[in-house]
Amino acid sequence: MAAVIDRTIHPGRGTPEDAWMACAALRDAPPTSAAQLVPMRSRAVVVAPHPDDEVLAVGGLMSQLARAGRRLALVAVTDGTASHPGSRLWPADRLGQERPREQARALSRLGVMDAEIHRLALPDGGVQRLYLDLAERLVQLFDEDDVVFTTWRMDGHPDHEAVGHACAWAAARTGARLVEVPVWGWHWARPDDPRLPWHRARRLELDEATVQRKCAAMQAFESQLRPDASTGAAPILDPGSVARAARPFELMFA
Ligand SMILES: [Zn+2]
Repeated sequence: MAAVIDRTIHPGRGTPEDAWMACAALRDAPPTSAAQLVPMRSRAVVVAPHPDDEVLAVGGLMSQLARAGRRLALVAVTDGTASHPGSRLWPADRLGQERPREQARALSRLGVMDAEIHRLALPDGGVQRLYLDLAERLVQLFDEDDVVFTTWRMDGHPDHEAVGHACAWAAARTGARLVEVPVWGWHWARPDDPRLPWHRARRLELDEATVQRKCAAMQAFESQLRPDASTGAAPILDPGSVARAARPFELMFA
């Protein structure tokens, strides 16, 4: 797994979910709702570095918005073709076919049926060097009334951070609103890490049916949930990631 300076992502050695559940700042973050996050005139645009980030970050929100008949767009920045380096089972061309299929299956399990989908097909692991291209393409996609949900600029994975920065730049250019969501941040950060911007944190509660839809959507990412017999690699989505997807809330930096 790639790393950014001191926000290293060590597979299987993330901050335990118990530590987050005991975190007062997380528990007491001001509540928000889908309607508050995305006003009636607005479209929600979810920008996912890799297929599965949209579900991990805001699967519950997407499900709630879809049920309310709201406009949704998904920007798939990469097709996630670099998740299994050196694998004979999962070569890049197979991942390039399968991961978008898993993403479509996940959206349907969330109840998201008619989202606009924009596939940008940037190289997985190579978003940083195409930052300017990405930012320009996002400017073309965003409208001033949009609310853009994407990965936190400090998330720790280079693609996640580059996508967060590109979204911030394009949102500033177009007048869209930016909401950042930690994905790998839950893994590398400890609850008392001073880099966590708790002053911007908002907590979206999810009812049980929404949590169930989100968990079912997570199970669509089969390529990420199984060990790889050809390399001996553990699943990309470790038990900690799966546990976080089952939380009865989502946390965003608004
Ligand atoms: Zn990702």
